[in-house]
Amino acid sequence: MLNVIDNNLYIEDVSFESIAEEFGTPCYVYSKTSLVNEFTDYKVAFKDYPDTNICYSVKANSNLSILNIFNSLGSGFDIVSEGELDRVKKIGADPNKIVFSGVAKSALEIRKALEFGICFFNVESLDELEEINKIAGEMGVIARISIRVNPDIDPKTHPYISTGLKTSKFGIAIEDSYQAYQKAAKMKNIDVVGIDSHIGSQIFELQSFEDSLVRLEELYNKLIKLDLNIRYIDIGGGLGIKYKDEEMPPTKIDFANKIMKIMKKINCNLVLEPGRSLVGNSGFLVTKVLYNKRSNEKNFLIVDAGMNDILRPSLYGAYHKVTKSVQSSDNEDFYDVVGPICETGDVISYDTPLNDVKLGDNLIIHSAGAYGSVMSSNYNSRPKVPEILVSGKDSYLIRKKETIDQILQNEVVVK
Ligand SMILES: *Cc1c(COP(=O)(O)O)cnc(C)c1O
Repeated sequence: MLNVIDNNLYIEDVSFESIAEEFGTPCYVYSKTSLVNEFTDYKVAFKDYPDTNICYSVKANSNLSILNIFNSLGSGFDIVSEGELDRVKKIGADPNKIVFSGVAKSALEIRKALEFGICFFNVESLDELEEINKIAGEMGVIARISIRVNPDIDPKTHPYISTGLKTSKFGIAIEDSYQAYQKAAKMKNIDVVGIDSHIGSQIFELQSFEDSLVRLEELYNKLIKLDLNIRYIDIGGGLGIKYKDEEMPPTKIDFANKIMKIMKKINCNLVLEPGRSLVGNSGFLVTKVLYNKRSNEKNFLIVDAGMNDILRPSLYGAYHKVTKSVQSSDNEDFYDVVGPICETGDVISYDTPLNDVKLGDNLIIHSAGAYGSVMSSNYNSRPKVPEILVSGKDSYLIRKKETIDQILQNEVVVK
């Protein structure tokens, strides 16, 4: 997807320089070809198991055009809010391919999802189970559910994105889940259809997925004796991607082989909820160098994108590769690339090697497709930046730049 022609970095057949010129900076840019390839790789990896339902995790990047691309490739969706439900409705998603996750589904969200007829809810607590049963009863419908179990697996990832440990707020401890299933089995408006787990994100060790699935298999074998019609195993998302050049994440084929080894023993459809591994490496943030401030201690490159545009470095200490849009091999120096926000933590990349940097140069922040634009905010009253989709020689504005008026429109001045 990336090429260098005459020292210019291209995404597909469009140079980042021309994107910066046409749409302004900062802006997010995505490669359609890369998005299609990542999804197709999943499909190919699981091709021997055609009943696998790939439910793209909308929260990783919820732009309507990106959802539309995945929808047209046959993807389902994993949603976590009313807003995400409205997004997938808007692009014509098939309700049968939608699962609803999240720890705090409101009554309104449950009602709207039942009205739409989603495939199932991933239930995260007994209170929530009762709430869904009650609302389904009021509506005169049966709610399909799976219970999100917490298999107590340490996926050896960043603590903020590790979700399957005993101490995590997510799911129901696997040892308590049997009782929860017994309760659910007796509920009049509940159809128990599956077992769900999601152990974390940016996972490199396939063994963690296998360990988790082995525990789900044990639970499955207990549950089928309860006369429940369990027909889905949902193993969540979490497959890691390459951020640093030297990193080697597992391939989707290796992932599929590991999973299928155990799934063969379970008579269920598989549900996947990949987010980052579908969009992460397909997106970039383009930003312009405004100033260079050098002291004895530090060499700061001050750019026009900040933590309000890309939060991951500040939130998780996450690494993003940063390169120039026009490449050079002269005058290498090391810079802390920082944004304009009034926070010491507003650093995009420490000690970044860059060549021949001049004011006005465009920098490319790589691997910004997942948890990038969706985590952006209006901090410092900065408008959200535009998003652009590139396909071959064409580039499309898929989200306009927000205006200051839009930021202010819901505020009321009280005297
Ligand atoms: C965030 C999330 C995902 C997606 O995780 P990735 O690491 O982006 O693949 C899937 N399922 C649930 C329940 C999540 O919270």
